[in-house]
Amino acid sequence: MASNVTVQSLLEKISVDHLECSICTNRFRQPKLLDCLHSFCLQCLQELRQSQYPSGTKLTCPLCRRETMLKGSGVADLPNIFAFSALVEEVTMQEKLLEGQGSEIKCQNCDEENQAVSRCMDCDHFLCQECQKAHGRMTLMKSHKIYTLAQLRSGEIVYTSKLRDEVPKCGKHPDQNLNVYCNSCEQVICTTCSVLDHAKHSLTGLPEAVEKCKKKVTEMVQKSERRKTQLSTTMEETCKFRKELDTMFANSKKKLSKKAQQEITKVKQEVAKIQKEEHKLMKEMDRIYKERVTTFEAAQAKNKKEVTQTQHKLEEVKQLMKEASCYEILELQQKLLHNLSELTGKQPQQVPDKLSFMD
Ligand SMILES: [Zn+2]
Ligand SMILES: [Zn+2]
Ligand SMILES: [Zn+2]
Ligand SMILES: [Zn+2]
Ligand SMILES: [Zn+2]
Ligand SMILES: [Zn+2]
Repeated sequence: MASNVTVQSLLEKISVDHLECSICTNRFRQPKLLDCLHSFCLQCLQELRQSQYPSGTKLTCPLCRRETMLKGSGVADLPNIFAFSALVEEVTMQEKLLEGQGSEIKCQNCDEENQAVSRCMDCDHFLCQECQKAHGRMTLMKSHKIYTLAQLRSGEIVYTSKLRDEVPKCGKHPDQNLNVYCNSCEQVICTTCSVLDHAKHSLTGLPEAVEKCKKKVTEMVQKSERRKTQLSTTMEETCKFRKELDTMFANSKKKLSKKAQQEITKVKQEVAKIQKEEHKLMKEMDRIYKERVTTFEAAQAKNKKEVTQTQHKLEEVKQLMKEASCYEILELQQKLLHNLSELTGKQPQQVPDKLSFMD
């Protein structure tokens, strides 16, 4: 059971990541490869072409918008990826084995629609109980390798698609396998073609050509990885500089605010000083004003008193002059005159008019 879980999780990973066509969102059916390395089902690409440029010679990838030029018979001529088809078949088979423990798998050897119990690797068929027995009885099939469904399910035996064993045939010589690589034409060809059309070209065996190709790709991958690292480093640097800019910006703002605040404080101190001065002068003015008012009032009071006294004195003098006899007037003459001269000798208390001036 434990191995089932592993197989299952592995399947999930593969199917989600690599086996879906992003046009129909189903698993690939006859996947074809575009120049941008994106793959789609043959039928999906044919429909896509109809909707894009029905008579044109190019196709725009719906994922990355890159164009692929079509030649010959169009979409059908695009490279196949049998490996993907094989994977789809293998994954689908593993799923069938896991779901319902394989009860949906029927015998492929007879027409009885019996449930399969095992698989013959040589015939590449699932077998029912009866067919498995028949296999054991026939001389020709006795040596065939037969595994139970349980063995396949557990992952002990891995089901591999027949597609993996298929060797592509030459387009010009359909009975010939493609087994030579022409470096000059950068093409896989058959032995006949190598003799007829590529005799003067640089030819290599497939294993050697694959080795060389893998080496080249590995080198380029490494170069790309280095470039990726460079990009990341540059991005980190840019990020650092950006952070520095942010810091500088914040600091400059702080500095400006501080400077302005200082200026404002200075002005405020200046204002406070002026207000203090104003207050002081106000007080001084108040004091002078009060002093002067006191002076004015004192002068007024004194003069008022004098007026009253003079009035009384005059009334007494007038009374005496009216009532007294001529002897008495003459006798009192000295006193009367003296009193009157006391009145006339007095000057009114004057306030200097400059006291009304203030500035
Ligand atoms: Zn599709
Ligand atoms: Zn693409
Ligand atoms: Zn059968
Ligand atoms: Zn067999
Ligand atoms: Zn060639
Ligand atoms: Zn050929």
